[in-house]
Amino acid sequence: MVNIGVLALQGAVQEHLDSLQALPEVNAIPIKKAAELENIDGLILPGGESTTIGKLLNKYEITPVLIEKIHAGFPVWGTCAGMILLAKHIAGEEDAHLGVMDITVRRNAYGSQLDSFVAEIMLPVVNSAPIPLVFIRAPYVEQAANNVTVLAELSGHIIAVEQNNLLATSFHPELTKDISFHRYFVKKVKQAYYA
Ligand code: GLN
Repeated sequence: MVNIGVLALQGAVQEHLDSLQALPEVNAIPIKKAAELENIDGLILPGGESTTIGKLLNKYEITPVLIEKIHAGFPVWGTCAGMILLAKHIAGEEDAHLGVMDITVRRNAYGSQLDSFVAEIMLPVVNSAPIPLVFIRAPYVEQAANNVTVLAELSGHIIAVEQNNLLATSFHPELTKDISFHRYFVKKVKQAYYA
């Protein structure tokens, strides 16, 4: 079994747990404390409000423990607010949160008119069928360093990136029935331990 945690401080937690639970050989575990990180092989940072989640990560003293684990190779996937938490730079803001991924993200990048929308992409490394994408006040990646792999772009904006043990997506696979991104992350977690 692979144990995958979902940070359960705020945001779309249950939806990620449900998507993970639909995969064979996966134990999905809500994570609220730093000590619980020791029980899991990888972690999902869900969508929600990055400022709120960032404050709670600090309040519960999870931030330094998680940063250290990430530097040691612990696999983490951030969706939407989770992508913002991972970024080293947030456009127009002074401070980052975890600051572990070499990307600059822009929050609420699609503005008020496109506040929330759905789209579809072909991404053969993740799924042989088109993947539905749900965006909710989503960020996109404005700049990615050379050591970051761009997995997907939509209308000229980067919406999915990977850097070693880290994965980040602007959109919310957990709000669709498609579990291919969750399968992709589980594969990445397995590779981190058995490659
Ligand atoms: N706009 C939110 C933020 O900046 C992210 C939205 C989401 O996670 N759906 O944190």
